[in-house]
Amino acid sequence: MCITSALAACCGAQQSETPWVVDRFDDIKVIRYEVPGFEALPLEEKELVYYLAEAAKCGRDILFDQNCAANLPVRRTLETVYENYAGDRTTAQWQALEKYLKKVWFANGIHHHYSNDKFVPEFTEEYLLEVCESIPSEKFGELTGLIGTVCRAIFDPELYPTKLNQTAGDDLLLTSSSNYYRGVSQAEAAKFYAAMAAADAGNPEPVSYGLNSQLVKDEQTGRIYERTWKVGGMYSPAIERIVYWLEKAASVAREPQKTNIEALISYYNTGDLKEFDRYNIGWVKDTVSNVDFVNGFIEDYGDPEGRKASWEANVNFMDKDACHRTEVISENAQWFEDHSPVAPEYRKKEVRGVSAKVITVAMLGGDCYPATPIGINLPNADWIRKEYGSKSVTIDNITYAYDMAAHGNGFDEEFVLRADDRERMARYGKLADDLHTDLHECLGHGSGQLAPGVKGGELGSYGSTLEEARADLFGLYYLGDEKLVELGLVPSFDAAKAGYAKYVMNGLMTQLARIEPGKNVEESHMRNRKLISEWCYERGKADNVIELVRENDKTYVVVNDFEKLRELFGELLYEVQRIKSEGDFEAGKALVERYAVTVDPALHAEVLARYSALGIEPYGGFVNPEFELVERGGKVVDVKISYPANYAEQMMNYSKNYSWLPNEN
Ligand code: ZN
Repeated sequence: MCITSALAACCGAQQSETPWVVDRFDDIKVIRYEVPGFEALPLEEKELVYYLAEAAKCGRDILFDQNCAANLPVRRTLETVYENYAGDRTTAQWQALEKYLKKVWFANGIHHHYSNDKFVPEFTEEYLLEVCESIPSEKFGELTGLIGTVCRAIFDPELYPTKLNQTAGDDLLLTSSSNYYRGVSQAEAAKFYAAMAAADAGNPEPVSYGLNSQLVKDEQTGRIYERTWKVGGMYSPAIERIVYWLEKAASVAREPQKTNIEALISYYNTGDLKEFDRYNIGWVKDTVSNVDFVNGFIEDYGDPEGRKASWEANVNFMDKDACHRTEVISENAQWFEDHSPVAPEYRKKEVRGVSAKVITVAMLGGDCYPATPIGINLPNADWIRKEYGSKSVTIDNITYAYDMAAHGNGFDEEFVLRADDRERMARYGKLADDLHTDLHECLGHGSGQLAPGVKGGELGSYGSTLEEARADLFGLYYLGDEKLVELGLVPSFDAAKAGYAKYVMNGLMTQLARIEPGKNVEESHMRNRKLISEWCYERGKADNVIELVRENDKTYVVVNDFEKLRELFGELLYEVQRIKSEGDFEAGKALVERYAVTVDPALHAEVLARYSALGIEPYGGFVNPEFELVERGGKVVDVKISYPANYAEQMMNYSKNYSWLPNEN
């Protein structure tokens, strides 16, 4: 509603000639995003954005190394080739090599950012070696001795096959190629951290053990120990740069932000997770600072055990013009909680400090770049969320850029059978998406409470899928609630109809475009959408709530009864909340394994064929804007923003100017 019109107004003012999509390769499109409102910020806030943005770029190497130990040498070898090769760049082999490098940049490593599978190169090892031979060896520097390692990492299908293995029954740590554990089995890691937790038993403020370290087993002695990511520890050269820019940021920030930035610096300097908690508490409580940011080891989805966090960063400021949608939602947080269709004992008696806002992103870094979430809800520590609440944001300039990039790509015509569904999606699709994201982030993740004695880690590797399902179901259920009409957030139930039709179509069918043939669903957000859609499809079969219609040799997902579907969302939310609250691992496992994982090969093949006929890339990511300090007489007088539209150039620039880690860490 008002948000859409606010955006429409700003887009009218910015009709630029540059296309939104700046690069396409494989299953990826790279989009640029604009930062409306940056020029109008006061100078000190512009300067703050600048310093935080620099800090956001400095941890890129950390993520590469976290994703796989071979990633940095692979990236640097290919970049050296990309920069120096003087031979024919029009051959199929060269083009394949260039595409591979673009994929490595995008995924921050040699595994697909979504499926986690290792990329299959479409050029040969002989070709790579030949190209390397043609380049003066001094260009490779220290990489010269690593060419064997690099080739094995790229070409040996047995080595590093998947970044994140979630196959039940396997040792998930020994078989995952991410670099969070070295030589440590699942049982050994569990024992190591159980001992730590036992020492801290009864502490109402438990630190997030293992969050900021690699767990290593000494090959000789068998001793298991942590290498902490901090100044003076693992990843120190990059963390020192991050701290350098954070100190600059603290020098221009006002209270309470200044103190928070200092707490974060202290955490980076010491590796002390209590300092991280102190920072998070300060950060959650700060709802006044216009410029805000995320910078640290945040999300643990890349660790099969859900313990170690990947490095990410994001710099943003409030989108004050974008209406009060999220404010209205968070003002009514207690009402939503009290009416949630879950068991009364698992509702939060008192919802605390759900702060929600719409933001404009100014810089993406680490695990938020180039692929980024469109909503953020932090911090992750359960006890801080319970005591202090959480902060939730919807990133509007990113969803706007996605929308612009998808305009007129033929998707709806191909996959949506009924004209009234298409019309509703065209009219309410963005609103329904935005609201669903708001509800998911500001209320869904923060809702509910655990039974006494349940800590929150009981669901193990199924935890992230079930947590996303819980937040999504909360959003879906309330998207269709009368209350939203009453609050003036939607004009009618039609918005929910648009959202529901789109969600179920995606969960049952179209998201399969993101999966390679022969593979199952691995990523937790995708698993969650499949879980919800498949469960509702099966449960609603008797009433034909959701129907798979065959027409012209094509499959379509059609919702016949939206009200009934909403009831089903409520029923599943009841069960998923129960599973979380009681830490019922077996029930959680059964739900996920039954509904969220296995792909129907025939339907999968059909979706891939229809997608490829449309020429739509299923994944999107972004190039960042660039900021430049304008100084006069040694004083900063302005910060200029520009929008580069060359993906490879930006990546090469980051690799040259923001790369601090050695090849092997
Ligand atoms: Zn979520």
